Amino acid sequence: MAISFFKQKNNDVQLDGRPIIDLREVNKYYKTAVGDYHALENVDLQINAGEFVSIIGKSGSGKTTLLNMITGIDRPTTGEVWVNSTGVHELNENKMARWRGRNLGIVFQFFQLLPMISVIENIMLPMDFCRTYPIHERRKRAMELLELVELADHAHKLPTALSGGQQQRVAIARALANDPPVVIADEPTGNLDSKTAESVFALFNDLVAKGKTIIIVTHDSGLAKRTHRTALIADGEIVNEYVAKVMPTLTPSQLLQATKTAKQHTYEAGAMILSEGTNADTFYIVSKGTVEVILPRPNQSDVIALQLGPGKCFGELEFFHEKKHRASIRASEAGPVEVLAIGYDQLSGLLEQSEATQEALRQMANKHNGENLSWRGVSS
Ligand code: ADP
Ligand code: MG
Repeated sequence: MAISFFKQKNNDVQLDGRPIIDLREVNKYYKTAVGDYHALENVDLQINAGEFVSIIGKSGSGKTTLLNMITGIDRPTTGEVWVNSTGVHELNENKMARWRGRNLGIVFQFFQLLPMISVIENIMLPMDFCRTYPIHERRKRAMELLELVELADHAHKLPTALSGGQQQRVAIARALANDPPVVIADEPTGNLDSKTAESVFALFNDLVAKGKTIIIVTHDSGLAKRTHRTALIADGEIVNEYVAKVMPTLTPSQLLQATKTAKQHTYEAGAMILSEGTNADTFYIVSKGTVEVILPRPNQSDVIALQLGPGKCFGELEFFHEKKHRASIRASEAGPVEVLAIGYDQLSGLLEQSEATQEALRQMANKHNGENLSWRGVSS
């Protein structure tokens, strides 16, 4: 199917520099018999147009609540939710349904097709509701969408005549009916066997290649790893993705603890972050931009030994060896740098809870120690 099938190539959509999805300090409280339940806590999440993002986390951690904030199915108690430059948190009920129909395709775990009407009619329904396409074009477009999900032969059957995987593909075709820039799917493969799940995932991949922005909640960590980016949610809070990348063997609640401990610092391009020879007391994770590791060499000029981008760390060598900086660290000239700083005391506390993480960091430190010595011309 030609790429031009979709009207918008969404990577080109101008959003005044805002990410296509932008959640700012979102809090959600549910009223319950025993008082307010804090389901989302200060959630900040930015997703750029064209990204394929997975959201993972234990059952009850707040994944569906988070998606409901984005789709406007529910509202944040405080905070802002921007989708495709619209403030979803401030849309009134009258405008919400039509806005949602035009901007978002939503796929549910249990498909939620209307059982009394045919497959093709299910797909035409959103077009009828939003009047995005002239009446005489709707059936043809629905048929093309069914071809896209390889179900054209089943157009006139009732949904219940189809298998689970086929019904989910119909639901995806329906989600695409109005050519929305964003597709949101809550455990779309949760109810499918692994082979069928794979074909649904492949379909999402094709859509991303065509410029759609896709967010899926999934329990399948294998699938999550194959998206561009994964957001882990624990007890209603988002774990920093770079903290998770550097210490993948921490449990979700330990990662959350590390995220809350970490202090974010920003540096201008070219700024010195720390100097060789000074006391070391902090472990750093790069979260934006690139830092340069600069080594002094006896009787020679300094050398940039390494460049570290987002998800890389420094300061672990000094944590395990003598606590004096072995190298200077500088923000690269390419642009500003953000780092997450975790004090050695806090790092000790975390590593005491996870032997695997302690071992992984120690090995990294030993490797860097060897590299450091060989750069200096000292055989290790
Ligand atoms: P997940 O999708 O990650 O399994 P949910 O977002 O559905 O989690 O739920 C997060 C928490 O909020 C759970 O503890 C759940 O029981 C609670 N919750 C969800 N919806 C409501 C509601 N309407 N009223 C009260 N509590 C709710
Ligand atoms: Mg859920």
